[in-house]
Amino acid sequence: MLKTVNLHKKYNDFTALHSLNLEVKRGEIFALLGQNGAGKSTTINILLGLIKATSGDAFINDISVKEEPQQIKKHLAYIPETVLLYPNLTGIENLDFFSKIAGFDYQKDELSALLKRTGLQETAHQKALGGYSKGMRQKVGIAIALAKDAKVLLLDEPTSGLDPIATAEFTEIVRQLGKEGRTVLMATHDIFNAVSVATNIGIMKQGELVQNLPSKEFTAKELQELYLKTI
Ligand code: ATP
Repeated sequence: MLKTVNLHKKYNDFTALHSLNLEVKRGEIFALLGQNGAGKSTTINILLGLIKATSGDAFINDISVKEEPQQIKKHLAYIPETVLLYPNLTGIENLDFFSKIAGFDYQKDELSALLKRTGLQETAHQKALGGYSKGMRQKVGIAIALAKDAKVLLLDEPTSGLDPIATAEFTEIVRQLGKEGRTVLMATHDIFNAVSVATNIGIMKQGELVQNLPSKEFTAKELQELYLKTI
């Protein structure tokens, strides 16, 4: 569902990605670990079409990012570390607004159902987003992804700054996304969460994928040891 083929990125003389080959199948949740500067965000930004690869290509559902960047956008949803929405609009108004931008016009009860699927309490739906916690904003971000029926979700540092309850709720939502056949690529530093939610773990080092393993082979402690040995 998501594939990079010999993806190479240079920023002037600095090589941020060295022929990255990564594959995430339908329904898989792939956690991309790596130190600061390993190339995780660069990979996500190329998939999103925000930056261009120097060479190589990436594919979403066999569609080339290089050849058809507009087509790709229909399949992708991006949830950044901090989901930026309109603080003066309510959760439901934000969802309505961003769904319409993506070309979907939902009835109010459908919007409410989408927010409920992410676990956002009903009492919050009509409250201004400015008062939402980080975890609540993230739920609205996921509801927007569901509204546009994104088949692939790219998540950047999704559990950073979330408390343990919000992290557990997030984990449950992501598991559900995988069960629905959606594909998730998440860049993270959270080894514990990676083991608990991901089906596959990749470790990047200096622009290369140096480990790519099924997560069921590890406890968090074992993954931490492997990570420290690898980087
Ligand atoms: P983090 O965990 O800190 O988010 P990362 O794995 O996402 O790190 P990237 O942001 O992809 O890493 O950066 C990879 C490398 O490319 C880093 O050394 C970074 O300094 C460099 N880099 C990123 N963007 C640019 C840019 N616009 N110009 C020059 N170098 C850049």
